[in-house]
Amino acid sequence: MADNLIKIAYLYEDLMNTYGDSGDVKILSFLLKREGYDTQVDNISLGDKFNAFDYDFVFFGGGQDFEQTVVAKDLPRHKDTLKEYINDDNPMLCICGGYQLMGSYYKTNSGTTIKGLDIFPLHTVFKSDKRMIGDTKYMTEWGEVTAFENHSGQTYFDNTDMLHPLGDMIEGYGNNPQDHEEGLRYRNFIGSYSHGPLLKNVNVANAVVKMIIERHNERLSQNDKVAE
Ligand code: GLN
Repeated sequence: MADNLIKIAYLYEDLMNTYGDSGDVKILSFLLKREGYDTQVDNISLGDKFNAFDYDFVFFGGGQDFEQTVVAKDLPRHKDTLKEYINDDNPMLCICGGYQLMGSYYKTNSGTTIKGLDIFPLHTVFKSDKRMIGDTKYMTEWGEVTAFENHSGQTYFDNTDMLHPLGDMIEGYGNNPQDHEEGLRYRNFIGSYSHGPLLKNVNVANAVVKMIIERHNERLSQNDKVAE
């Protein structure tokens, strides 16, 4: 891996890219360029080989229920590599439909249960009372975030000792209408319902860039040690 090349895996870019979520990857490429790094973005789609450890950052965007059903059938091949990658403190961002698929399941409004990767103890269900749509505002460890949400799935954490939200809602719904919390923050993993894209919030984008560069450099020095 060249020292100044940051490799980004975009999972199912052709299927999971609602409301301009690819903007998150574009913003990261722009900010990384400013820091002196080139970026290479690979679309990992149906049937493609994928080893998360070949990458410095993994992105998984939002999608409609139908696309999620298609993707969910291909996704289990990548469970082990993604789980190890996340638990090794490597950075990953999942938005909306992608975030939902990292949990155990998503039960849709048609009654279909889409199996997720079950990497995180959380589940998502449709409840007839609400489609969560509109502007959102919430407070994160990096300051206030404004975004846009549009989802029918309501996400609930099944283990609140292990999972912590990305932010506390000020406006909008976030994970579900009851908890007043948005998204998931775990090691260097971020899950979020925020479109807009999320990383138009420069405070969050800078935090993600920092995670990527720090982890990139740590991995380079680990490789140097192995090579010595
Ligand atoms: N299809 C999912 C839902 O409606 C996710 C939507 C999205 O990714 N925008 O909850």
